[in-house]
Amino acid sequence: MITLKNIVKEYDGKQEGNRAVDGLDLEINKGEFVALLGPSGCGKTTTLMMLAGLLKPTSGEIYFQSKLVNHVEPKDRNIGMVFQSYALYPHMSVRDNIAFPLRERKVPKQEAYERAKETSKILQIDHLLDRKPSQLSGGQQQRVAMARALSKNPEILLLDEPMSNLDARLKLDVRDEIRKIQRNLGVTTIIVTHDQEEALAISDRVAILNGGRIQQYAPPSELFNHPVNLFVASFLGNPPMNLIHGTIEEKTGNQVVATKGFEYILPADRRLDKKHIGKSVQFGIRPHDVTVCAATDPQAIKLKVDLVEHLGSGKLVKAIDPYNKLETMIRLLTDNKLELNSGEYIYIKFKDRKFHLFDMT
Ligand code: ADP
Ligand code: MG
Repeated sequence: MITLKNIVKEYDGKQEGNRAVDGLDLEINKGEFVALLGPSGCGKTTTLMMLAGLLKPTSGEIYFQSKLVNHVEPKDRNIGMVFQSYALYPHMSVRDNIAFPLRERKVPKQEAYERAKETSKILQIDHLLDRKPSQLSGGQQQRVAMARALSKNPEILLLDEPMSNLDARLKLDVRDEIRKIQRNLGVTTIIVTHDQEEALAISDRVAILNGGRIQQYAPPSELFNHPVNLFVASFLGNPPMNLIHGTIEEKTGNQVVATKGFEYILPADRRLDKKHIGKSVQFGIRPHDVTVCAATDPQAIKLKVDLVEHLGSGKLVKAIDPYNKLETMIRLLTDNKLELNSGEYIYIKFKDRKFHLFDMT
């Protein structure tokens, strides 16, 4: 449905390191819901604006179906867009706001109003059609912006941080609603967000961006379970993955990741090629894959509790190696029943096969 081929965007001149988008390839299927996720400034909005036709790529090609659209005007792209600010016309009624994209396309007023009414019903705002945007709550304005984007039955819906102005509770409801509407209408949708929970919750696939480049493009569970690099591993997950520096060594017939605080024996089915022996590595393990165990457990690692944070559903424990050789704290999640206080010693181990290895050099 949508193909981006080696897209580059430079805003001011062609100096090195000045690329907002730096060689981006992306394919989006018809009816798919895709999120562009990444830290502030990574090029998400720039990419969306190029899809909308509001910005032109410096180089590269954008195709809708098999048609090159680089030079197609925004109004001829059959796209609906919701901006972070909603950008509603303040002097117009809700009805006129929703009908605006149709009027722009020379749809007669009566018909445009009828279609605005239909779209407003889908979003459950048909009782607000006579109001002005200033007379609406944030959540209602958000729906009007959605209705305006959808009124002309676009093939593609582009959403730029559409929920960032809503409070936490409302965000969850609106999120579900956007997903439902998208499913019902089957409209190909691209959402830009810096909120990983949001992206993972509603998308079929997520493209993780950093520095104008795609780091990984995959379904949510794949990103979480098989991050391809250190950026994706440390960006995704809350609390973040533990990352501990070590080296790959061979000891008594086993391969181990040796860190300054512990040695982790690699299971036989995850043995590495011999060329990696002696190499430096980042050992990654998610906090929920670290468990408290008995001191007598052969894999036990002794740590000292530094901080305990209550998360409601459980506790986040930050523990340090008592001799401070690990050079990093270890985060682990425990259930509420476990009583732990700062300064106490605990024994932990890592769940089998849940580790990740990055940056073997
Ligand atoms: P995101 O939406 O991921 O936060 P943007 O696409 O807005 O990121 O910006 C990507 C990069 O391009 C940033 O470094 C930003 O400062 C720069 N940038 C964005 N808009 C402009 C502009 N109009 N002129 C110059 N640089 C810009
Ligand atoms: Mg942005």
